[in-house]
Formats: sequence, structure tokens, C-alpha cells
Amino acid sequence: MNKNTVIKVKNYLEDRGIVKISGEITPMDLRKNGKTFSLEEHIQGMVYSLMSAQTVWANIERNKPNIDRIFFEYNPEKILEKDYTYFVDALGIIRCRSRLTNGQMKVLHENIRTMQRIEKEYGSMDAFVTSENVERIVEKISKAGSKYKIKMMGEALAREYLRNIGVDSGKPDVHMKRIMGSERLAVSGYPEATNEEVVAKLQELSNETGLWMSQIDYIFWAYCATDMGEICTANPRCEKCVIRDECARFKKI
Ligand code: SF4
Repeated sequence: MNKNTVIKVKNYLEDRGIVKISGEITPMDLRKNGKTFSLEEHIQGMVYSLMSAQTVWANIERNKPNIDRIFFEYNPEKILEKDYTYFVDALGIIRCRSRLTNGQMKVLHENIRTMQRIEKEYGSMDAFVTSENVERIVEKISKAGSKYKIKMMGEALAREYLRNIGVDSGKPDVHMKRIMGSERLAVSGYPEATNEEVVAKLQELSNETGLWMSQIDYIFWAYCATDMGEICTANPRCEKCVIRDECARFKKI
């Protein structure tokens, strides 16, 4: 798995209009060019991240304007005025509820209060998320027992949140761990690559390609995900795969 692997998959997806990476201005580009992200944007990043779990993301993506309205454009005071059931019901109406939604909305107020507390301590959420290297920030917001813990957010979702507000990081989700596993692209010696292996490989590929880590894992995620490329799924369509020459599974077919 190297620079060419990334380019082949990117070209395949772009040629079919599934993703648009070339010319894209990402939140990381905006931050690099001096943008700071408001508390509202941090809350939006958190909500999008939570809603990306155990769902068909394409459905959430389509409904972003509705979701933004439901969450009052992420005004913290307006969100805090509503009971969690308001958000659960509203997300149900637009068919954007997953089996995690109830639990996620139950902790929404607590998460916003955590962010407000962090703002008091650091001056802003932006100052907090850029106060240390990204690995340390991921740990602070995702580890149980941390005073900065955002509830219902493990490591993968913490990375998703950070990229939403322009802090680059690779996301070791189920698709990435599987495609990098020993039975597919064999970045790892295990059937499922570890979080550390995924993040290290994404960093290497980012250095080689000049793409952000999050763009690279988005490319591979899109290659795998339902309603997107749907190529390297749990039951992969290897006959259509543009990187099959590199794959341990295809060599066995
Ligand atoms: S050949 Fe099949 S298993 Fe291997 S990367 Fe391609 S789709 Fe995935």
C-alpha cells in the first residue's frame, strides 16, 4: 500500500463522481490559512461525528441542512433549553436516527457543558484542541476518566470530530482496519490492523501524497462504504477492484 494505491482508488472514485478530492478546500486548509472555529462549529463537529457512528453516512450527509436546523445551528443555549427527547424525535422524523441516537442525545447537554468548561479553562475550544499534539488531544477527549472526556466518543469518533474542525488525523474505523489487515492490503500482520498501525500508515501516505491524512482515509472509507464505492466491503467485489493486484485476498482467489 503506497502512494499509487491511494491515487488509483482516488481516481476510480472521482471518475464516478463518488468523491471530489482534487481542488477540495478542507477544514484543515481553512485552519492552515488562519480560520478559527467557533464554539458553534465545535458543537457541529461533535454532533456530526457522533451521528457518523453505526449509520449510512450518505443519509446523514444528505440531511445536513435539516440536522443543522434541528440543532438550532448549534447555538449552545438553545440546545440546552430542549430536553434530549426533542432531538431524538426530530432526528427520527428525518430518518437520521441510529440505535445510538438515544444515548448520544442523553449526553448532549453534558457534552456541551464540558465544552463550555473547557472554554473557561483554555479561552476557547480552538485553543484547547491546538494546545498539544493531536494524539494527546484525542486521548483527552476520548479516554474514560479524563476531565475533558466527551461522552459517547471513543478514539475513532474523537478523530472524526477533530477533522471536522480542521485538526488533521487518521481515523482507524472498521473499514480502514479491515482493508489494511493481513487478509487484504497486509499493512498489518493481523486480520484487522490496530489503531496505531492505521494511523502510522495514514501519516506515511500523507507525507508521500501531500494529501491530508483525513482525505486519505476518506478515500478508502468511500471505497468501502455502503451507498458510496461499495467495493471493499465485508463481502468485497474484488472483480471490480482497482487495487486487487496488491491484495492478499485476491491472490488466493
Ligand atoms: S481485491 Fe477485494 S478484498 Fe482486496 S482490496 Fe480489492 S475489494 Fe478489497
